[in-house]
Amino acid sequence: MEGNRPVPINGLSVDVEDWFQVGAFENVIDRGSWDTLELRVERNCDAILALFDEAGVKGTFFTLGWVAQRCPAMIRRIAQAGHEVASHGWDHARVFTFDRAGFADDLARARSVLQDITGQAVTGYRAPSFSIDARTPWAHAVLAEAGYCYSSSVAPIVHDHYGWREAPRFAFRPVAGADFIEIPVTTAEWAGRRMAAGGGGFFRLFPYAVSHWALTRVNRHDARPALTYFHPWEIDPDQPRVAQAPLRSRLRHYSRLGAMPDKLRRLLRDFAWGRMDALAAAEAARMS
Ligand SMILES: [Zn+2]
Repeated sequence: MEGNRPVPINGLSVDVEDWFQVGAFENVIDRGSWDTLELRVERNCDAILALFDEAGVKGTFFTLGWVAQRCPAMIRRIAQAGHEVASHGWDHARVFTFDRAGFADDLARARSVLQDITGQAVTGYRAPSFSIDARTPWAHAVLAEAGYCYSSSVAPIVHDHYGWREAPRFAFRPVAGADFIEIPVTTAEWAGRRMAAGGGGFFRLFPYAVSHWALTRVNRHDARPALTYFHPWEIDPDQPRVAQAPLRSRLRHYSRLGAMPDKLRRLLRDFAWGRMDALAAAEAARMS
C-alpha cells in the first residue's frame, strides 16, 4: 500500500553562482569581465537562507570557489545555519572541457577555499551544468580518489546542452571498489517518457502542480527520494539583463522569477527535505 510507506526525505540543493555565470550566457559574458559585474549572489543567498529558516529545512549549497573567495562571510552564514557547503567547481567550467588532471586541479582549488572559510570538510560535488557524462569516464574516479563521498552531477536524460541518457535514474556507485555515490538529478517517468523533474527551469517555468505531480510520482510510484536544485539568481527579478544572449536563453532565464519565492515555500512545505550528504548516506545504507 503506497500510503503506508515511509515518506522519503528528498535532497534540497542550491547551486551558488551569480547571474552572469550561468552556462546559457558563457558565450556572451567573458570570464575575464566577471569582476566588473554587480555581485548579487550574497543578497539572494540571504533570502534563500531566510526561506529555509522559515520552513525549518536544511539543504546543501553547491558553491563556486570563485564566489566563495569573494563572499566568505556568506559562506560562513550558510554553514553556521546548519546547511552543507559543498563544491560546484571553481568557475563553472564544465567537466568535459577538462582533462583528468585539469579536473583534479579545479576540484582542489575550489575545495581549499571552501574548507578554509568553514573549517569543515567538503565531501559533496555538483558538476556545472550536470556535465559528467559519457565524455568524462574518469570524472567519478577523480572525485573518489580525492575523498569525496558523493557527487550529484549526472542528468540521465537528453537536454539541449547536457545529458547522459544511459545513466541510472537513481543513486549508484560509479567507481568499482569505492563507496563513492552518484545521485543523478531527478527524473520522472510516465507513459514511456522521461522528463527532467529536479528543478531549474522545469520548476520555475511550469506551474507548481507539474513539479508537485512529478516529485509525488518519484516518492510514491518509484518509492525513492528525489532531489531539487535552484539558483540564487532565480529569485532575483531585478538582476541585470544580458541583451546579447540568444532569445531562447533570455526567455528561459528571465521567465517567472518573481513567482519563485512563493513556489519554493509550497515546495518546502509539501515534501520532506534534507541535506544532500544525508541523502547520500541514506542511499549508501540502502545499497549496502
Ligand atoms: Zn551551475
